[in-house]
Amino acid sequence: MNAYDNALRQLEKAAQLMVLDKDVVLRLSSPEKTLMASLPIKMDDGHLQIFPAYRVQYNQARGPYKGGIRFHPQVDLDEVKALGFWMTIKCAVANIPMGGGKGGVVVDAKSLSQAETERLSRAWVRAFREEIGPAKDIPAPDLYTTPQIMAWMADEYSQLVGKPSWGVVTGKPLEFGGSLGREQATAQGGMFILSALIDKMGLKADKLKVAVQGLGNVGGGMAELLYKQGYKVVAVADSKNVIYNEHGLDIPKLLEHKKNKKSLTDFPGVKEISLAEFFVLPVDILVPAAMENQITDNNAPDIAAKIILEMANGPTTPEADEILYKKGIVVVPDVLANSGGVTVSYFEWVQNLSNNYWSEAEVTSELKEKMTSAWQAVESVSDKYKVDFRTAAFVTALERIAAAIKIRN
Ligand code: GLU
Repeated sequence: MNAYDNALRQLEKAAQLMVLDKDVVLRLSSPEKTLMASLPIKMDDGHLQIFPAYRVQYNQARGPYKGGIRFHPQVDLDEVKALGFWMTIKCAVANIPMGGGKGGVVVDAKSLSQAETERLSRAWVRAFREEIGPAKDIPAPDLYTTPQIMAWMADEYSQLVGKPSWGVVTGKPLEFGGSLGREQATAQGGMFILSALIDKMGLKADKLKVAVQGLGNVGGGMAELLYKQGYKVVAVADSKNVIYNEHGLDIPKLLEHKKNKKSLTDFPGVKEISLAEFFVLPVDILVPAAMENQITDNNAPDIAAKIILEMANGPTTPEADEILYKKGIVVVPDVLANSGGVTVSYFEWVQNLSNNYWSEAEVTSELKEKMTSAWQAVESVSDKYKVDFRTAAFVTALERIAAAIKIRN
């Protein structure tokens, strides 16, 4: 289950269907640039540790490279390549003028102190300083990278170039060039898509049971918004616990508990279940919002949900996709469902470059417009070719990327 192999299979499937120019397929079958570094960090106890770090600049046909940096022990080059490729597709689906890239550091972020995290974040910027920049390649948060980390990165870059250059990264804190609405943007964007989908399917939010995997920025935000909009969130999973109550969980209380106790352990009135049980729960909507390769040919045959809303990147393998399609389960792909994050990142960058900041209402209404037109474009391609939403999203994106490549060749 190599994420990059999966990504290329998705490309191949869409390319065949739409009869995509062979040269475009070739260009998109490898990253434009792959950067690697070893980051030497002095740990708090005085010993030196080396952290492998990456930046993959996948494709810039539609604009500067854009995509997050992940701090995670499972990071490797193929994962970063897959994520960079998906960013290329995602930015084109969202129709923002950006290419795709991704970065990472192989590290267990939870084991670092605040000071070690700061040194690592600044070292990442120093290693790739020549290759990133507001007009070139603009990183952002991803798994275990926070607004605070983005602030250190923007500060390090600004010091290196000798002027304020906050547009070098997005997802920054509000006090330091961030945008209103960025923290919630990924979840908010996913909710706009989900609302459009359930309207189309003739379903009502208050009749739907949901299970959410992941309680980070995206999963936590989703659980909160789903709860607020009347969905019944019956199960949530974080990296340690999986909890279930068929009558619905009190999400605000649960998030408060997790914040105070740093864990879901001892949350009252719930049943602890395994992750394997979680994926096959009798729910209407499954929201994977954690890692790649969670829905596979192992668990797909037993999934009971009608809808899978992919808020993580790459949670479903191509084998599982086939099984889900045959079972009539609607999969809303990552490149559409979670594109609200990068969309508001783009708004943040526009605000940084123009030094003119928007109200939260403006951000939300612009996001809604972008998400709605992305949804409509994907829906109409899916109707035209009679294909699943992932293939339709890829076709939508590939038409736009191919047009940008063709016009200058
Ligand atoms: N890491 C997020 C994603 O996978 C956001 C990227 C960004 O804002 O550039 O879409």
